[in-house]
Amino acid sequence: MPSDPTALDTRAVHEGALLPRPLGAVSTPVFATANFEYHGEEYHDVGYLRLSNSPNHAVLHRRIASLEGAEDSLVTGSGMAAISSALLTFLGAGDHLLVQDVVYGGTANLLAHDLPRLGIHHTRIDPQNPDSWAAALTPRTRMIYVETLTNPLVQMADLEAVPRFAAEHGLISFIDNTFASPVLFRPAERGFDLVMESATKYMNGHNDIVAGCVSGSATNVRRIKLMLDHLGGSLDPHACVLLERGLKTIGLRVRRQSANALALARFLASRPEVAIVHYPGLASHPQHERAARLLDGGFGGMICFELKGGAGPAERFCSALALPVVAASLGGVESLIVRPAAAIHSGLSAEERDEQGIAEGLMRFSTGIEAAEDLIADFARALDHAFV
Ligand code: PLP
Repeated sequence: MPSDPTALDTRAVHEGALLPRPLGAVSTPVFATANFEYHGEEYHDVGYLRLSNSPNHAVLHRRIASLEGAEDSLVTGSGMAAISSALLTFLGAGDHLLVQDVVYGGTANLLAHDLPRLGIHHTRIDPQNPDSWAAALTPRTRMIYVETLTNPLVQMADLEAVPRFAAEHGLISFIDNTFASPVLFRPAERGFDLVMESATKYMNGHNDIVAGCVSGSATNVRRIKLMLDHLGGSLDPHACVLLERGLKTIGLRVRRQSANALALARFLASRPEVAIVHYPGLASHPQHERAARLLDGGFGGMICFELKGGAGPAERFCSALALPVVAASLGGVESLIVRPAAAIHSGLSAEERDEQGIAEGLMRFSTGIEAAEDLIADFARALDHAFV
């Protein structure tokens, strides 16, 4: 599978399109039908929307597999549907998995509160120290789970060590690639068994649907599909068409967002009001060298930065911004900003936030595709306002 960015851009537009085009349609029509004529298929292949087998699903499965450099893909009703159905496919009562110390909150809650009720337990590992991972293995460890770039501090685990460690110990390696997207990083090409994306974010890119996908070998993806069929987490065909449209521009969007984010990160790092900037494209980032080696064509659109003075200046900064919307979620064409301690991480105790490095004045910025000069001018104005 070619993985140069130009080829990816072409495949993002064309791969897996329905041919011949239905009635000559240039864009894939919405197949707004819950069921299809029966032709003797076995249950999981009967034409029925919950079984993720409409023509709209088929186009996405082929296109996403191609972008991820994987054998097959499955779209799901949300990123969490992809994560939960994949975990429940490969883990049962008594099983155990290794998990990066900090992961997305929904995943952390699933692991901490729901899966233990089913007898599935996990141990957190230090993602920067592969030599420490073997000590956490149990006879029932089945999987190692990491994220390409963490939320909100955009840390990068030792991603080269994960598939190696998994192969040595007979584990399934599973990665959440949401913050990078296949434009910047294609884990399947680097030996990961399973790759998921919250397609709500960069894959769709327009803040107008919730969706997910999971990719891997055809055998593994088929097993996850059978689980998803029972859990009922399929994606609606109207959302499939929006996701297909979003995917056509993923290369353009993510490279523009990365360039904007780098310019903004440099600007923020130059300002005396800013205590620290977390961005893998800056030489000051602890895993900058690894990110430069592993990521293609940019460092992503997610920046985290801390204003001096805590929550007060951070709130004033946010309310003075004209362009970014104060909102959770990320990865869309519109810039979004959020103060994690007040919003997405407000469910954690102050000690837990401290442990994860989430200070009161920390801001998470999801860079959109606006002109970088306009974003920088807006940030400069808001900084002046926050510190008068
Ligand atoms: N993984 C990451 C890194 C996320 O940021 C999110 C959502 O914010 C998810 C998974 C879950 O995705 P969804 O909201 O599409 O279920």
